[in-house]
Amino acid sequence: MAQPSQDPLKPIVALAKRRGFIYPGSEIYGGFANTYSFGPYGVELKKNIKDLWWKTFVHQRRDMVGLDGPILLHPKVWLASGHLDNFSDAMIDCKACKARFRCDHLIEESLNRSADGLTLQQMTETILEHKVKCPKCGAQDFTEARYFNLMFTTHMSKTGQEGDAAYLRPETAQAIFIDFKNIIDTMRVKIPFGVAQIGKAFRNEITPGNFIFRVIEFEQMEIEYFIHESTWEKTFEDWLNTMHSWCKLIGLSENHVHEKEHPKELLSHYSKRTVDLVYDFPFGTSELYGLAYRTNFDLSRHAEFSGHSLEYTDPETREKFVPHVIEPTFGVERTILALLCEAYDEEQLENGEMRTVLHFEPRIAPVKAAVFPLMKKEILANKARTVFDDLQRIWNCEYDESGAIGKRYRRHDELGTPFCITIDFDTLENDTVTLRDRDSMKQERVPIQKLIEILSTKLS
Ligand code: ATP
Repeated sequence: MAQPSQDPLKPIVALAKRRGFIYPGSEIYGGFANTYSFGPYGVELKKNIKDLWWKTFVHQRRDMVGLDGPILLHPKVWLASGHLDNFSDAMIDCKACKARFRCDHLIEESLNRSADGLTLQQMTETILEHKVKCPKCGAQDFTEARYFNLMFTTHMSKTGQEGDAAYLRPETAQAIFIDFKNIIDTMRVKIPFGVAQIGKAFRNEITPGNFIFRVIEFEQMEIEYFIHESTWEKTFEDWLNTMHSWCKLIGLSENHVHEKEHPKELLSHYSKRTVDLVYDFPFGTSELYGLAYRTNFDLSRHAEFSGHSLEYTDPETREKFVPHVIEPTFGVERTILALLCEAYDEEQLENGEMRTVLHFEPRIAPVKAAVFPLMKKEILANKARTVFDDLQRIWNCEYDESGAIGKRYRRHDELGTPFCITIDFDTLENDTVTLRDRDSMKQERVPIQKLIEILSTKLS
């Protein structure tokens, strides 16, 4: 196993904490595995991503509407969707130290081979035959492999008895399917159309998570795009291209995003085709987003289990059918992790110093501009505050007057702030400021009057 010092994510995790992006969950209680808090800058970054996603996929399209369904759905939903029976991972326990591992991960990491397609028994045998050691304590003493459901269970009544079980949703998608009829009845939607939702999902993931790559509570941005079965192949290709365009829009390099087709025999119980968009994370190339053709499995099952027809009637041909679905799904945490990895850089400066910088795409940067008085003098600070007030009305900006100017630049380089504006004594004479570009570190002198116009062009 990799030593902590060799962890390729270490500098990113450290920066995320140092600069108020992401903190370990419940830290003062010793931490709580696979949970994190988004700090003041993390929450801005997250909001920018979600707002841009909503604007791109809901507001700027005429074939999409939004929904915000509940986290707790009727327990029958999960019976109908197949999650109660199928949404599980094969796990194995170390008898010596009681650590629990996902069998596929243990086999892949210890033996450097894929565990795809292996049955429970084959996984147990593989681990035994190859004398796989517990990555935690080194013992070779495992239980048999067993399936564990990934859904978190809670109880609806005070009695806590069996039968009261409710589940925290492991995906947002089902809320969309069960409101399909409401949307058809209340909105002027015509197939093909999509329903988008952003919300929390919960999975009882056992394996450690590579920072926020695999957490137990995360947000999904999902679309269920309803179609006639005959168009699924073309719609699938269109969405694949659209997902690539999104990656580009937020600043992920095309060279780091690839497609991974799921082999037919390993498809989820609801899918006829799935392609993952995988990203070259520092710890390996892994799933960023997914695109699945879910057929009409979900709507058909909900019709069967609820007793309500979920058919759609084509207004022109009068054909009645249960719509099929293409599902593009985007994890918020994985988006943030990919963006941090993509943007992170340590650069050697001409004077020999190193600077750490996040080259965020300006449209997703948490702070768009920082305004500094050159020094802590009332006369400069007053002017700087008026400039800041004008900009803050339009963008999230920051005012900072403490410390040497170089240190303030470095701090905003680490926050990924695209522009810094400095007010100096010349400003008081001629109403101009210096505008410093984060990436080139070049400074130009610009009139205050033109600042909003110049920033609007540079930030869009
Ligand atoms: P994996 O194979 O990594 O467990 P998955 O194939 O189960 O992921 P999906 O069910 O397709 O994931 O979920 C849709 C998206 O939700 C994923 O592409 C990912 O971005 C995100 N996601 C899923 N599980 C997690 C998690 N535990 N932590 C953070 N994000 C997640």
